Amino acid sequence: MTPDDAPDFDAIVIGAGMSGLYQLHRLRGLGMKVRVFEAGTGVGGTWYWNRYPGARFDSESYSYGYSFSKELLEAWDWSEHFAPQPETLRYLNHVADRFDLRRDISFSSRVTAAHWREEGRRWEVTLEDGSRASARFLITAIGPLSAPTMPRIEGVETFRGLSCHTARWPKEPVRFEGKRVAVIGTGATGVQTIQEVAKTAKQLTVFQRTPNWCAPLHNAPIGRAEMTGIRARYPEIFRRCQETFACFLHTADPRNTFDVTPEEREAFFEKLYGEPGFGIWVGNFNDILTNPEANALISDFVARKIRQRVKDPKTAEKLIPKNHGFGTRRVPLETRYYEVYNQANVELVDLTETPIERITPSGIETTARDFCFDIIVYATGFDALTGAFDRIDFRGAGGARLRDRWAEGAETFIGMSVADFPNLLMLLGPHTALGNIPRSIEYNVDWVSDLLRFMRERGLTRVDATPQGVEAWMETVREAAQGLLSNEVNSWFTGINSNVDGKQTRRLSRYSGSAPAYRARCDAVAAAGYREMALD
Ligand code: NAP
Repeated sequence: MTPDDAPDFDAIVIGAGMSGLYQLHRLRGLGMKVRVFEAGTGVGGTWYWNRYPGARFDSESYSYGYSFSKELLEAWDWSEHFAPQPETLRYLNHVADRFDLRRDISFSSRVTAAHWREEGRRWEVTLEDGSRASARFLITAIGPLSAPTMPRIEGVETFRGLSCHTARWPKEPVRFEGKRVAVIGTGATGVQTIQEVAKTAKQLTVFQRTPNWCAPLHNAPIGRAEMTGIRARYPEIFRRCQETFACFLHTADPRNTFDVTPEEREAFFEKLYGEPGFGIWVGNFNDILTNPEANALISDFVARKIRQRVKDPKTAEKLIPKNHGFGTRRVPLETRYYEVYNQANVELVDLTETPIERITPSGIETTARDFCFDIIVYATGFDALTGAFDRIDFRGAGGARLRDRWAEGAETFIGMSVADFPNLLMLLGPHTALGNIPRSIEYNVDWVSDLLRFMRERGLTRVDATPQGVEAWMETVREAAQGLLSNEVNSWFTGINSNVDGKQTRRLSRYSGSAPAYRARCDAVAAAGYREMALD
């Protein structure tokens, strides 16, 4: 290799969200020359793009922040148990400043292509403006839910008012006072948006295709004294997150639904419904997500709650899911979401009864009515897990295209590597443990950093997944999915997106096993000197 062939950087990281920021920090610690390319004008990833009204996370704030720096944990106070988006974005800017990360990040730099060059053992990355850079390693920190999808409805581009996807929300505040607002979509994003917009809009019309099972968030402020107590418990909090199935503070109760009397069961459901966070979903009886009879009981419990909370029985029925059980899709957590439908300024349109025919310059036309709006909000979700990869032209060894390779579903080795895509390492790629995302991010980043250190110490310059390694991992992914009711339901969990060609059939792009099992598997790969991968 001549000096001219030397790559510009040791590593290029795509994305300056939670994964990219921490990855940059770790690689710098290894003395590597790193460049991060970020499409946005600032850091934050998910929290940079999703500025929609009401956006916040559903993990307890103190279980969500980074755990890697004691100084950071000492310095940062969370103001609420479930912090809103502006606070999380401030937090990530604080992280970028504290660790002086910005000087290695190029903003407004969207990566459009990444091609492997075997001759120089490097990745050549092309940006939207045509400029290029190269690096020995390419690390994707592009997020599992970062490729927003607009609905495929005739006339979307003709609307004359303000219309926006929630993941592309404008930086300037949008005011809803005196406005007629439509929200399309009732996933976790739609639910948060709806409950916020309903507070001030003159008229809010919710266009719902599939209702979801929502449960109360029970958010509350964190006072100074409480924050001091939380800080003292940080080691315990993060240890707990390491032990639980999906890295949340909550984990399944060891009992099965039918181990207890109906009265005990009702009392337990009631307790969980009254508690903050995901307990009712991931801290419930051990079998609610696998046993259809058990699932029917918790679904019935939540349906009764919806009927109690929504005054109009017809509206309540429309809000109760009929085609999937509780927790088999991501459970949106809510704050007075159901009560919104008791307000005079809110109307629910059931798209299964009256589908949208087209978007018009003045609003939305369904099979039953013409609606006029000032604002249309598209809370229509993402091309999840693989969509952000599909939007970049990745070409590996021999020109293999990742998009083609994954046409029928992603294939990975432990969610971090793809055969024939040497030196490409993925953070939160398909088939990594997701759950409480930052916990999974820290694990992935540490694993990748350890691999790169291992390689450098031994003068190794090429790492690839082997076809056998991929097949074995895919078998693990298939086994982990066995028996889960969620894998029989259409949602982004099962790779379904009605707005993307080729994503109408279910696929296994998600690892649905436990995070501890995932980490044990990845730790074993590292402990054995990465011999399950092809190193050179
Ligand atoms: P989503 O769960 O995929 O929901 C998209 C919604 O848009 C669904 O209700 C869908 O209906 C509807 N939709 C899509 N295309 C449509 C069309 N052509 N016509 C009518 N309706 C249409 O997306 P999301 O709500 O953005 O959430 C995605 C994930 O992001 C969540 O599951 C969660 O993991 C994450 N998230 C987290 C938080 C948090 O931490 N609090 C907040 C927001 C999001 P169908 O169901 O019928 O397809």
